[in-house]
Amino acid sequence: MNRHAWRDHAACIGSGDAMFPDQDKTRTEWARQICAGCPVSRECLRDAINTGDNQWGIRAGLTPEERRSVKKEINRRLRQADLARQAA
Ligand code: SF4
Repeated sequence: MNRHAWRDHAACIGSGDAMFPDQDKTRTEWARQICAGCPVSRECLRDAINTGDNQWGIRAGLTPEERRSVKKEINRRLRQADLARQAA
């Protein structure tokens, strides 16, 4: 299966620039609502984290800053797991 096949099920298909609300709070909340009803939000977030898409737009209901925080937390936990493995 195409590894991007999940995109065919994205709730934001046809939403135009709605997923790029810049700093506008009302438009950001609208984009978050679109993501809230999306059946592929997990795949979307995983893709955003894996590809480093953390500069623009809303993905999986998260702003770029929020996605960067998620990525930092994942990296922090991976480092902890590495240290725990080395200490074992
Ligand atoms: S989670 Fe949001 S940005 Fe990602 S595919 Fe779904 S609607 Fe689009």
